[in-house]
Amino acid sequence: MIGKTEQADKRTHFTERAWLEINLSNLRHNAKALQKAMPEGCALMAVVKCDAYGHGGVLAAKELERTGVRSFATATMEEAVRLRENGITGEILILGYTDAGRARDLCGYNLMQSVIGYEYARLLDEAAACAGVSVQVHIKIDTGMHRLGISAGKTSEAGMVFAMQNLEVCGIYTHLCCADSMRPEDIACTRGQIASFYRLTGALEKEGIRLPKLHIQSSYGLLNYPELRCDYVRAGIALYGVRSKPENDTVLNLELRPVLSLKSRVVLIRPVKKGETFGYGRQFLAERDSRIAILPVGYGDGYPGDLSCGRGCVLIGGYSAPVIGRICMDQLAVDITEAEEIRMGDTALLIGGAGVSSQTAPAVAAASGRIANELLCRMGARLPVVPVE
Ligand SMILES: *Cc1c(COP(=O)(O)O)cnc(C)c1O
Repeated sequence: MIGKTEQADKRTHFTERAWLEINLSNLRHNAKALQKAMPEGCALMAVVKCDAYGHGGVLAAKELERTGVRSFATATMEEAVRLRENGITGEILILGYTDAGRARDLCGYNLMQSVIGYEYARLLDEAAACAGVSVQVHIKIDTGMHRLGISAGKTSEAGMVFAMQNLEVCGIYTHLCCADSMRPEDIACTRGQIASFYRLTGALEKEGIRLPKLHIQSSYGLLNYPELRCDYVRAGIALYGVRSKPENDTVLNLELRPVLSLKSRVVLIRPVKKGETFGYGRQFLAERDSRIAILPVGYGDGYPGDLSCGRGCVLIGGYSAPVIGRICMDQLAVDITEAEEIRMGDTALLIGGAGVSSQTAPAVAAASGRIANELLCRMGARLPVVPVE
């Protein structure tokens, strides 16, 4: 595995200043590991919103589709249309808001839209009628997140959506707000959410409604509540092989492998004499004659500026070099005074790897006051994506 990664380094080494390496075999491995942990009959809905958490939405979805994944979720209609236009044929659920006026395109692109509230369902039904189409929907139920969805207590509202002429209800789902937490009060809250979801679906069934597909779990929903028997698991972060936070222990301990690495090259090595400063605001003051390496990557590439002034470090040939001074939009500097073996052209690992290393996505995210989900989805705006096997 490492050998192949090195090959990719060589291939890009002399032309790319910085790049995202996307390990496709790890992505396939994670999808298989999640599918194996799911009950029989439950399908993996790969959450590929925000460019597949910065991994490249089309790249990730295509690879997953090749391995047999048939369900995808995006946050927006634009993301979903982009998948369709790039040949993804599996079902696609839009988790977020889409203007009801787009009913015709929802139907034309064969997309499923989340019903984010009762009034929204009415508007979408009306717009679909005007366009002469039927729109496939999943009804979102709010069981405590209090973000999107029809309140779990409002059975009649959910029931009325089933009666709408121009909406075809293909699913009902809810989203858990603290499934990653093992605190007793959060577990109680999650169990309450699950119970209120099933109370609603039970009540609908009693009214004679034939239940569509049901789903509750995202990554931590599966990892901490694997006993649930749903029709889908909507997995995002676990699919990309990392935890949201370094300390997130889970009931189910799957061996997941990080898919993304952010790498860059040492393009300059320069001395900074004792007493000299580096960078904007002169935030770094050399307390000794120092040797610093310049990496042509910065917050404009998604690497958080919060890691300035020693809060972040990068791995160069086994040496962990602290970031010095303020991270710029397009460059940053690290102190390599003690690592004489580092040469221009060497590769630096900024994010990636597994275990307890301080370069893992959860560790880098935590150092910058974020969760890995947010860190990863900032990637990719400007960085070339290099798939490796
Ligand atoms: C983003 C999202 C997911 C995926 O969450 P992960 O924690 O990354 O697995 C699942 N469901 C909904 C509704 C989401 O918005």
